Amino acid sequence: MDTADLAKRILAGERRALARAITLVESSRSDHRTQALELLDALRSHDREALRIGLSGTPGVGKSTFIESFGCMLTAQGLKVAVLAVDPSSARSGGSILGDKTRMERLSRDRNAFIRPSPSQSHLGGVARRTREAIDLCEAAGFDVILIETVGVGQSETVVAEMSDLFLLLLAPAGGDELQGVKRGIMEMADLIIVNKADGDLKATATRTCADYAGALRLLRKRPQDPEGFPKALTVSAIQENGLDQAWAEMTALADWRRDSGNWAGRRAAQARYWFEAEVREGLLARLRREPVRGAMSALAVQVENGEVAPTAAAEQLLSMYLQTTVAEAS
Ligand code: GDP
Repeated sequence: MDTADLAKRILAGERRALARAITLVESSRSDHRTQALELLDALRSHDREALRIGLSGTPGVGKSTFIESFGCMLTAQGLKVAVLAVDPSSARSGGSILGDKTRMERLSRDRNAFIRPSPSQSHLGGVARRTREAIDLCEAAGFDVILIETVGVGQSETVVAEMSDLFLLLLAPAGGDELQGVKRGIMEMADLIIVNKADGDLKATATRTCADYAGALRLLRKRPQDPEGFPKALTVSAIQENGLDQAWAEMTALADWRRDSGNWAGRRAAQARYWFEAEVREGLLARLRREPVRGAMSALAVQVENGEVAPTAAAEQLLSMYLQTTVAEAS
């Protein structure tokens, strides 16, 4: 199938075309890469806009249960929901723990839902690029809501927050001292803190945990992207499907406010710039690891390790060497 045809099918909302296109953007083969970029370019002109929701939480807090219940609630309202995952650990553990369809049985059978497991790529940069491009594809295919799930591994929360319009942090009920377990930087990224499992014996603890986090959020400095009262903490029970409608109401209220205030467009623009710079950095590094400078790079790395050259000086040396070789190649 040629690129134009694939683009047309994606715009028509064909799921198989979408799945195929995501496989294409996941591939690192250079001819696939060329085709993927062509495809993304061909899809640029549509005016569809999805609400991109990032969702982070440690294993066991109930992410998949939440996505299943929340996703089914949205599809019941007639919305189309896509679920993607950023799971940099999957390469290490050998199997993806996220996006596994068996975890979201009801949602994966839903005609208005599309679930894509995390790709097995060894570095976060690769996973991030693929997820970003998959988001664009899902948006072109007409999805209204795109959920991007991650476990808090390394930098994965930052990566997900940088590709979302809203960022949710899912937590489990816990004693007060647990509050310190959530890193301040992650709290600062959150638009909504959702304390799950507010049911049965855990309900009282969940309410207390929620109040603790609400207090902690009030101590953070006010962000320009928030109306009065945000970021917020609330409780839900994903299993009993309680509180999900309130959570959705908060998300849409915040999204509407950001759209009206110009914050939404500003954030997307800043994200585009962030990823542009990230791609430049990664692209440069990848080129430096190729011939003819590759040998020089390893040699300099050893010298840096041995303390023979300072890191900055070595980097300058390598970069000018690289520039000289590209100039020589061009002439
Ligand atoms: P994930 O690792 O974050 O995706 O978490 P899962 O969705 O797999 O859930 C982990 C465990 O928590 C499972 O045993 C779920 O049944 C349980 N769980 C998830 N949501 C709730 C909830 O709302 N209430 C209660 N009581 N248990 C829940």
